[in-house]
Amino acid sequence: MLFKKKKYERLVSLKKDVVNSISTYCQIKHPNESILILKGTSKKGKILIDSLVIPPFSHTGPTFAGFPQSFLPFDMSYLGIVHSHPSGSAEPSLTDLHNFFGLVSLIVQFPYDDEDFFAWDSQGNSIKLEIV
Ligand SMILES: [Zn+2]
Repeated sequence: MLFKKKKYERLVSLKKDVVNSISTYCQIKHPNESILILKGTSKKGKILIDSLVIPPFSHTGPTFAGFPQSFLPFDMSYLGIVHSHPSGSAEPSLTDLHNFFGLVSLIVQFPYDDEDFFAWDSQGNSIKLEIV
């Protein structure tokens, strides 16, 4: 079998109500980091995030948010995680890249408005993001 390597333009679409939920959650947890699992569908580089899951046994602090991935059920609709950066920079840290989960990592920087959402891949490259 021969697979043609196609380069799809990647795009992350976030439902507006998901954005609102994440933003509210981050504000409640502030100044600690918050972390949530992203659920949705992915097809040919187009990632649509339509719901959220609160990870079990998550532990968060001002500079770290994580959860043991071994506790997660195997679920193909888990697309990645979103976490907040209360300090205000949405750049992924080395720890973030080492703990990469799924297809996409969203980082929300303070003050958690629509324009404070950023999407990254496992290499730390930014992915285009739109709110739908
Ligand atoms: Zn981080």
